[in-house]
Amino acid sequence: MRLSSKTKVHDFKVGVHTSIAGGMSKSIERAVSLQCTTMQIFSHNPRQWRKSQITREEGERFAVLRKKYDISPVFIHASYLMNLASRSDPILRKSIKLLSYELTNADALGAEYVILHTGSAQGENEEKARNRAVKSILKAVGTTTYSASLLLENTAGERGDITSSIKTLSEIIDTCHSDRIAGICIDTCHAFSSGYDLTSYEGIETLISEIKEYVGLDKLKLIHLNDSKRPLGSGIDRHEHIGKGFIGNRGFKKILSDKRIARIPMILETPKKTEADDKRNLKTVFSMIMKGQKEING
Ligand SMILES: [Zn+2]
Ligand SMILES: [Zn+2]
Repeated sequence: MRLSSKTKVHDFKVGVHTSIAGGMSKSIERAVSLQCTTMQIFSHNPRQWRKSQITREEGERFAVLRKKYDISPVFIHASYLMNLASRSDPILRKSIKLLSYELTNADALGAEYVILHTGSAQGENEEKARNRAVKSILKAVGTTTYSASLLLENTAGERGDITSSIKTLSEIIDTCHSDRIAGICIDTCHAFSSGYDLTSYEGIETLISEIKEYVGLDKLKLIHLNDSKRPLGSGIDRHEHIGKGFIGNRGFKKILSDKRIARIPMILETPKKTEADDKRNLKTVFSMIMKGQKEING
């Protein structure tokens, strides 16, 4: 089958993590100006425990604008301060509260998903830490009925990471057994840093077959599309511009021409030093998607 002339880049769900500076709805204006069809935001300052409620007006304005511009889904990235596997009771309590707060904010904005890193073992046995993360997640979602769902993200394999493999990610999901968990988010930088060689077809196949085996491909709801500043298996989480890191154009061309991946919403969390950075990264991704579609279809 040949590429239909109707296939446009906007048939694909591609967006960037967008700043909420100046108000929640400002993030939509930024996404629209970058021609994004999906977006990710923080629901508050991610480096502060202190919480400020999203007002009803703010939430409604956001919901109206995203509908107007047809931006969907909207993802909220949970705060970096959270450690749902922490050995410290005060941190654990604060983390659970913060996760509930993220879900409340998501509902206030009408955002579909909250993206979560499950936490760090901090030198403890990882199995134990994962069990603690399960309990924390269940506590956070247990008391209220939320519309938004959680997506658990794979991590880079830094010291203490408890979910850098698909299998460990699935263990948490299976043990939670909660319908508030809609599935997973795969970050390409994290996957590469934790040892999945996304520069080769074999490596991509390994990742996809593990997702199929342990989680189900239908549960893959989001791809964080980031290149990696560090080499394969480094265990270090440093994002790089698309094509400029160790995954490189070679890897991203393969990833974006894989029809199992190309139709999943994609969010870039690439470095932003200037306004031009997002534009350039998106342009690279759009062009690779279109070339990939020609390969898939033609
Ligand atoms: Zn990510
Ligand atoms: Zn990262």
